[in-house]
Amino acid sequence: MTVIHVALDVPVNRLFDYLAPNADSADIGRCVRVPFGNRQLSGIILSVSNLSSVPERKLKTAGLIDQAIPPLPQSLLELFEFCSHYYHHPIGQVVMNGLPALLRKPGYTTSRIPKQIQEWILTDAGRIITLSDIPARSKTKRQLFSLLLENGIITADIYKAMSPHSRKLLHEFKDLGWVEQRTALPGKFAFSTVPTLAPTTEQAHAIAEILARIGTFTPWLLHGITGSGKTEVYLQVAASLLAQQKQILVLVPEINLTPQLEATFRKRFPNTPLVSLHSGLNSSERLQGWLQAQCGEANIILGTRLAIFTPMPRPGLIIVDEEQDHSFKQQDGLRYSARDLAVYRARQANIPIVLGSATPSLESYHQARIGRYRLLQLHARAISQAVLPAIHCIDMRVTPAQERLSEPILDALRQSLDQKQQSLVFINRRGYSPALLCKSCRWIATCKRCSSRLVVHLRNRQLRCHYCGDQQPITPACPQCGDPDIMPFGHGTQRIESALIKQFPNARILRVDRDSIRHKTAWQTMLDTIHQGKVDILVGTQLLAKGHDFPNLALVCVLNADSSLYSTDFRAEEHLFSQLMQVAGRAGRAHIPGTVLIQTEFPQHPLYLALIRQDYAAYAQTQLKERKSASFPPFVYLAVLRAEAPVLAEALEFLHQTAAIATIAKEYAHIQLFDPVPATMTRLKGLERAQLLIQAVSRKCLQIFLSDWHQRISALPARSKLRWHLDVDPLTL
Ligand SMILES: [Zn+2]
Ligand SMILES: [Zn+2]
Repeated sequence: MTVIHVALDVPVNRLFDYLAPNADSADIGRCVRVPFGNRQLSGIILSVSNLSSVPERKLKTAGLIDQAIPPLPQSLLELFEFCSHYYHHPIGQVVMNGLPALLRKPGYTTSRIPKQIQEWILTDAGRIITLSDIPARSKTKRQLFSLLLENGIITADIYKAMSPHSRKLLHEFKDLGWVEQRTALPGKFAFSTVPTLAPTTEQAHAIAEILARIGTFTPWLLHGITGSGKTEVYLQVAASLLAQQKQILVLVPEINLTPQLEATFRKRFPNTPLVSLHSGLNSSERLQGWLQAQCGEANIILGTRLAIFTPMPRPGLIIVDEEQDHSFKQQDGLRYSARDLAVYRARQANIPIVLGSATPSLESYHQARIGRYRLLQLHARAISQAVLPAIHCIDMRVTPAQERLSEPILDALRQSLDQKQQSLVFINRRGYSPALLCKSCRWIATCKRCSSRLVVHLRNRQLRCHYCGDQQPITPACPQCGDPDIMPFGHGTQRIESALIKQFPNARILRVDRDSIRHKTAWQTMLDTIHQGKVDILVGTQLLAKGHDFPNLALVCVLNADSSLYSTDFRAEEHLFSQLMQVAGRAGRAHIPGTVLIQTEFPQHPLYLALIRQDYAAYAQTQLKERKSASFPPFVYLAVLRAEAPVLAEALEFLHQTAAIATIAKEYAHIQLFDPVPATMTRLKGLERAQLLIQAVSRKCLQIFLSDWHQRISALPARSKLRWHLDVDPLTL
């Protein structure tokens, strides 16, 4: 009997066995349709054997094994297995989540996948044939062959246009050994005429270093300030690998917000097949791109975190741009870090990986400091005239302000308007104001389903919860005491926009946040407006900070950064520093010197002092010291067990139970389990949440412990309405 072991999208961590009389090891990695209960499911064959733990009479027979799509490469299957093991997530769900949605869809037939285009090339044997070897009466035959002699190749559109018999004739040539058939590459491989920029000394050094270790697993941390030209390093290293017919995987945080990198790659390599994989694609576009990567037709694969699961037969280089960005970590389902998996993939394929950032994550920076990663630094801006922006703090304890806008900021905006330069006012909070408050009884509008305040959206006269999306009309009076004098408290982008309109009635002001770019095309339209110089003052959230060059932007004003300074989240400060460096980096690119003004009540805070000096290294070292003394990553390894239930007590009780069944045996001596506590955001979407933190001195210890513990928890009797999950290397606690 032949048994296939199939990964299916079901929440059980095992493979499912089916009889498949004709299957053999060549089918490993192929898609198969199988009966499951009273349904038909699509799955992936992970192994083939003649054994099953299920008695033969109970085994069902598998349906069709899909031969149209090449099997998933072994390396990808290994990545899935690693992922399932490391993140303690069911293997079938890991595999099926990593595939394009259409392949997962039961009933989807691969006949709908467009056939690959074939082309014919002349063989060495064909080259010595002359036209006189072909009888003169076979006119079409001669015509076809003369074309082959001339070009060495003939593509489908050409031979089809010539004669309906071409295909048959080409097959005759093939039988004679004169030509070979191959799958066409979309677009010929050639280098662009767009000139590569002459690298700066630092860039040239970085490029040479990386290229010197091509073909070996080498993790590089490319730390370069904004404007230092990290992209040029990516491009020139990529060019060298593309010339060796290698594939390049480029991971970016959010493609819709950072279309510039994609555009740059396309411009530099116009004839190189590039696929872009992100959530903005429809499912058939996504499948197409994925298949092109899988068949080796696409040489550049650019995508967001999910693209880490793209099969590549000829991998040569992985680039993770803005490696510190939190969007590389998936926050639900399989909670993986695409950046960390990228390092795994590079090691597996024995290729270099470049992690690029202006403010590397402390994890990566630490790896570079202890020598596990190699550090490359770009200190200077690539355009020689461009200087770093001057950063100043405005002490809000002594400076008067109206509507959160201090005098120095209003003056600077006025001056910038006079000089016809653009300004950016950064406030990382959308909506009109973050709370609605009753002055008489201190009542605050809160969400019924979450432990959060409702945000005032004045334009739509609505109160919205930014966590669950709930919305309701603004109440005309306080529901608690009836006082009609309820007022918006605090500032969001909309309120600042209104205040600026009042201050500068003639300025062209544009607000950019998630509310204003809700429509798919809105973002591009806004970018165009900004680039065409039709905007004087931009008001926006960190959306604006992400990878955009605004050549005429000279002034950046930061309004409310302080809120992250004394947060309970140990990563909040690191995140703030990175965000402010990014937003400050927008000022004064090209040939305009930039100014950055930051309003704060803590002008002496080490974060601001380091920011003023734009000294990432010094800041990172202080932070790392603090993390070390407080036992936080990267000096320890964390996992969080989270539970949610309609009532908090149930979630806590469950966590206590899981703690009780954890065996902290001798070999786990370096594991510490903390007491279950309510989550910072206790109520979310009507459920109450609690968590239990696990800390370990090594990744290995943590993994050994978690494997055992996860099994024990899974074996506990299921409780209705209680859900739990394990988050390994969590970003937030
Ligand atoms: Zn009241
Ligand atoms: Zn809510």
